[in-house]
Amino acid sequence: VNADSEAPTIFDKIIAKEIPSSIVYEDEKVLAFHDVNPQAPVHVLVIPKFRDGLTMLGKAEERHTEILGYLLYAAKIVAEKEGILDGFRVVINNGPGGCQSVYHLHLHVLGGRQMTWPAG
Ligand code: 5GP
Repeated sequence: VNADSEAPTIFDKIIAKEIPSSIVYEDEKVLAFHDVNPQAPVHVLVIPKFRDGLTMLGKAEERHTEILGYLLYAAKIVAEKEGILDGFRVVINNGPGGCQSVYHLHLHVLGGRQMTWPAG
């Protein structure tokens, strides 16, 4: 995977509903859907519908601050919908060293089991 690529990713097809996903929450700005390879009983990805250069958090610019804040708010909505508001984790993997595999910014919302720190 080329971390600097602006090429479309699989998430564009999920946004376009060309690839099915199990949607938890959707509005005009974000889409939240269950991860196909869950690492916890609840594992939901929250993504901006318009990537606007945000392949990864490390590419963030000042113009992205509104969507970045909104993604966190959407993570809370997801946690509420999934019934894990009392215990959940939000993760952003950044770049190859951060284990990022899809270059369209996404938040992982994890819960439904006891989390351990820092791994798992
Ligand atoms: P990353 O490793 O980039 O932080 O996370 C990418 C996540 O996307 C992985 O957890 C992976 O399981 C998930 N993923 C990759 N392809 C698909 C897909 O086609 N559908 C869904 N629902 N999740 C996907």
